[in-house]
Amino acid sequence: MPEPLIVLEKLRRQYPSGDSMLTVLKDIDVTIESGEMVAIIGSSGSGKSTMMNILGCLDRPTNGSYRIGGRDTGTLDADDLAELRRKRFGFIFQRYHLLAELTAVENVEIPAVYAGESKPDRTMRARDLLARLGMADREDHKPGQLSGGQQQRVSIARALMNNADVILADEPTGALDTASGNDVLDILEALNAEGKTIIIVTHEHDVAARAKRIIEISDGNIISDTRTDHDTPATQVPPFVAVSGSTDAKAFGSLTGRLREALRMAVRSMRAHKLRSFLTMLGIIIGIASVVSVVALGEGSRQKVLSDISRLGTNTLEIFPGKNFGDVRSGKIRTLVVADANALAGQPYVAAVTPTVSTSSTVRAGTTEASALVNGVGEQYFEAKGAKLVTGRLFDADDVRAKAQEVVIDETASKTLFGDDAGSAVGRTLMIGQVPGKVIGIIQAQQGGFGSSRNLSLYMPFTTVQTRFLGDSALRSITVRVAENASTALAEQAVTQLLTGRHGSKDFFILNTDDIRQAITSTTETMTLLISAIAVISLVVGGIGVMNIMLVSVSERINEIGVRMAVGARRNDILQQFLIEAILVCLIGGVLGISGALAFGALFPLLGSNFSLVYSPASIIIAVVCSSLIGVIFGFLPARNASLMDPVEALSRD
Ligand code: ADP
Ligand code: MG
Repeated sequence: MPEPLIVLEKLRRQYPSGDSMLTVLKDIDVTIESGEMVAIIGSSGSGKSTMMNILGCLDRPTNGSYRIGGRDTGTLDADDLAELRRKRFGFIFQRYHLLAELTAVENVEIPAVYAGESKPDRTMRARDLLARLGMADREDHKPGQLSGGQQQRVSIARALMNNADVILADEPTGALDTASGNDVLDILEALNAEGKTIIIVTHEHDVAARAKRIIEISDGNIISDTRTDHDTPATQVPPFVAVSGSTDAKAFGSLTGRLREALRMAVRSMRAHKLRSFLTMLGIIIGIASVVSVVALGEGSRQKVLSDISRLGTNTLEIFPGKNFGDVRSGKIRTLVVADANALAGQPYVAAVTPTVSTSSTVRAGTTEASALVNGVGEQYFEAKGAKLVTGRLFDADDVRAKAQEVVIDETASKTLFGDDAGSAVGRTLMIGQVPGKVIGIIQAQQGGFGSSRNLSLYMPFTTVQTRFLGDSALRSITVRVAENASTALAEQAVTQLLTGRHGSKDFFILNTDDIRQAITSTTETMTLLISAIAVISLVVGGIGVMNIMLVSVSERINEIGVRMAVGARRNDILQQFLIEAILVCLIGGVLGISGALAFGALFPLLGSNFSLVYSPASIIIAVVCSSLIGVIFGFLPARNASLMDPVEALSRD
């Protein structure tokens, strides 16, 4: 003879209570055959629910054994027990335990989700079951919109969803009025008539009287076990056996199905707590937005400064007298002379060379007066600096030799001095201090960059400036443009050697635009790194915020976790659900943060700035990866806490 469906042997359940142990079930022996309808009756606190939870594999005995279908549950791990709950048991609770955010149909579908059934199949079956329980017109209502009796029917449909062979009902009528209670008992009776094993826990004798066997429990002991064998009255409830059973679907399809379901649940729970989700995201939004815009700002400023520098001329060396900038003796050093420039001009690595002197002076055009920096330069200056002629001409070697009183001005000076008449500036005469000078050409303004000042810039042959203004042959500087094929560093060495030889000592210093460029690049890189570090800190803070909220979310939804476990969710299913929620929050936060950064960049041109942020796709991709990583890292702890919950404890929490 095969073993009965359920065999309890010497089953004991104890709870720690203070220093001693409270024994709730005292070595119980019970067997229940397949197809029985059993009522477990007893007063409150007698241990009925404890026994029920052990029968349903929500809880484990402290001692003794429980075998179902010949399988010893003591040897099973958490996921095996979840499988048993999913396949063999259907739970009906006193307080229904429906998920408030889901409709009736969706509640009924949950067990099938964890069994891996496809969405269309399970929806069809859930609607079918609800229709048979007279709930066809309430399918899409949320539990809050249903009466107690209706909610209990939904929970019965849920218990039937995976075609369980054992229905466990803990005080199923406890919260219902007599009429609804009787309806529920009718349904249970009909299910029993179709072959399902029904176990009802109750403290009411009229409810117990509907069963064919009554086990009375008192203070953890079974005190009577009687069979009534009354006739089952015919009921109007249509048959349920026709409902096709579901087995766990193929592993991969089942996994993607459960992931999709977890995603759907995450979206739903975010929608249910919009403000909270947004506040959680805020840390991520700010962090990601600042990382992306700081990187873009750094890149933007680097590119701008570099373009300013390249406007100064590529690969130029500027030779100044003195040891360095700010050398007080540099004004007295008079050794840097035109002959040095001429000597440099003969070197193979030099493309162009120009001596420069300068002086400040007022400049007058008609009635307009301004102060100006008068640059005395050689004819190669414009080539060396990469200056672009807009109109007119530049002076040549003959002009320099002849100390011509000719002036080249830039567009800014032209606009300041001649106003709207700028176009006709060429050919006009300026008074520079006491010296008249004829404007022969206009060059593009070297805006931004180095050496820019609030003074206007005028350019005259250096010979003219030396004789008419300074009366001195010393130079302010010599600018050398290094030949394309020569190395700037080597050229700098050669120039140093040459001039040291000529002067007898190194009484000059050289500014190399390459050095400046590198210095700026490394400065902006350092800045970007620094601010990025701050942004990363804000991301971490944001992540901790996510963890916080997820912990709150888990503790708010302990009951939901319990329900999901009761209907067969594995630990991984629960872990996935909360992890996906955390990742989703972070990902959406990341996308919003990136949009924020892009919007920030779009503001610059609107504010009339010629500065622009340069976004790198890499920084955006890294931002997205970062935000999902934050979701995983900071969501993991709360999600794991949720998955390790004890189902009975979770279910009893409100
Ligand atoms: P009922 O027959 O009313 O369903 P229960 O099975 O819920 O009774 O509880 C039986 C006894 O076990 C009660 O005295 C209760 O206080 C105790 N008990 C139940 N769960 C726990 C627990 N998790 N920790 C400690 N004591 C518990
Ligand atoms: Mg109870």
